Amino acid sequence: MLTRRRFCAIAATTTLAVATPSLWPRFAWSQESPGLTLKELRDGAWAVLGMGGNGLLLRTDEGPVLVDCKVFDAAEALYDVVSAKAGAPSLIINTHHHGDHVGGNWIFRMKHADVSVIAHRNSLPRTAETLDQEALPSLAAMAENPETTDRAAELRSTLTAAHFQADRVYDDRLTLNHGDIMLELSHDGPGHTDNDTVVFIPQLNLLHVGDLVFHRLNGFVDMSGGCDPLRWPEVLRGLDRLGDAETIVVPGHGDVCDKTALPAMADYFDQMREIVEHALAEGRTIDEIAEMKPAVFENLGFPSILPRAIRGMAEALAGS
Ligand SMILES: [Zn+2]
Repeated sequence: MLTRRRFCAIAATTTLAVATPSLWPRFAWSQESPGLTLKELRDGAWAVLGMGGNGLLLRTDEGPVLVDCKVFDAAEALYDVVSAKAGAPSLIINTHHHGDHVGGNWIFRMKHADVSVIAHRNSLPRTAETLDQEALPSLAAMAENPETTDRAAELRSTLTAAHFQADRVYDDRLTLNHGDIMLELSHDGPGHTDNDTVVFIPQLNLLHVGDLVFHRLNGFVDMSGGCDPLRWPEVLRGLDRLGDAETIVVPGHGDVCDKTALPAMADYFDQMREIVEHALAEGRTIDEIAEMKPAVFENLGFPSILPRAIRGMAEALAGS
């Protein structure tokens, strides 16, 4: 349950987020639904929406699988929602290291020591920073509230970087048999980050693409997190090998969609590349280019992250 006390703690953190816009995860989920909801996709499969990147919950006869764990503040609500629907997860997969996808890992680790967390190898050093970058600021906000001071102190003394990191990693491909479900994990090089994982479940024809797709939204470009906006479209087009016209796609952000969202996101970056190449050829500076507001992107959500995306594209093209 998202109690009023919990909501107040979350609201306090949201205020902090506005003051620190460089912390994407806080900023992002504050623009999304304030609560968690489950959307049934197939029999025994649900999208987990709100409070961070979209998750995917799968019921198996060896215990549930959960893809992505929202923001730090959502952890207790996530645990309650997921457990009530399918039981405590026995396997967690993270699509990449960003705090709005790994922030809630800790609650499952803390409550179930045997839960396994799988992610791409490159996520390890980046996810290790989640404690400092996501958890500690949230705990500082919780400590300010007399109702949550004790809980904040308890978590502060208990949490370590390992509560957020994967305990099993892979490099390019990993096929997992978990109970009656087979999962195919793929990493095709840098795109949104240098540790993107997509998860395909053939028997359910379900595909979770992580933040490689911001559906009908501007994409978040995090150059310091290994983003390669020049390769991102190529990665997306390569995913055409998975699924078919009936595949249900869970994007990292935005509504559940189908595979047409993948080439649409690739087109977004191709269009941005063309615009930025033209501007560079005209002699515009990266600062000037970052302020451009191309009409072609005006109907997309998350407009405030467009300048960051354009700047990243300009930096990538300029080789800086
Ligand atoms: Zn991300």
